[in-house]
Amino acid sequence: MTELQTFVINPFYCSFFVYWGLSFIFFLADISLDNKKYRIEPDINWKLYKKSLYHVLYLQFCYSLPIMYMLIPFWKWRNITIEYNQSNHTDIIKLITSGLLGESIFFYLHYWSHFILYPQVHKVHHEWKHTCAIAAAYAHPIEYICISLPSFLFPPMITGLNWYYSNIWFMIATTSVVIDHSGYNIINASKIHWDHHKYSNVNYGTNTIGDVVHFFYKKYSNYN
Ligand SMILES: [Zn+2]
Ligand SMILES: [Zn+2]
Repeated sequence: MTELQTFVINPFYCSFFVYWGLSFIFFLADISLDNKKYRIEPDINWKLYKKSLYHVLYLQFCYSLPIMYMLIPFWKWRNITIEYNQSNHTDIIKLITSGLLGESIFFYLHYWSHFILYPQVHKVHHEWKHTCAIAAAYAHPIEYICISLPSFLFPPMITGLNWYYSNIWFMIATTSVVIDHSGYNIINASKIHWDHHKYSNVNYGTNTIGDVVHFFYKKYSNYN
């Protein structure tokens, strides 16, 4: 397998397939289920829905692909193992650590984005008040490069996770962010992030762990 296939095409395909596969399933739910019963807010902004479809494809092809290509020398320098049979039990620990790192990196980059250049950058993602799954990667390109991609890529970079497991991590992280934005009242993670889009000053993390830690850190320090 070529480097291009290994480090660019395969991870892109994994995330792309999960993102659009899940978004399509939620789209079918959005148009066929009783929205009053299952959605937190029944009204769906179909104009923004359509805009998000094109915008996310633009971000994925024009930003994800070139950035993954530019990172090939980095992964080689990091000397990570590629094949599944080169992995060992420490990669399971690294995968779990990647999840915790991903949550922490996302929490703080996202938190700061509400105070630094908010009107120019993060406000684009907050055009979605009543989120739908497709809104997950709808963001200003600067946010996509500085928050979304680092939350995905930094954890395996830091832990030196085997590449087979890194691809699993990319799929788990994609699944998580799409479900968070689905807007269904029967999914707790979705309710947590829906509140963030509604109120803008709560639930900065993808789950409540980051927010609870941050709450106590603020309480017992002068950080704000
Ligand atoms: Zn969001
Ligand atoms: Zn936000």
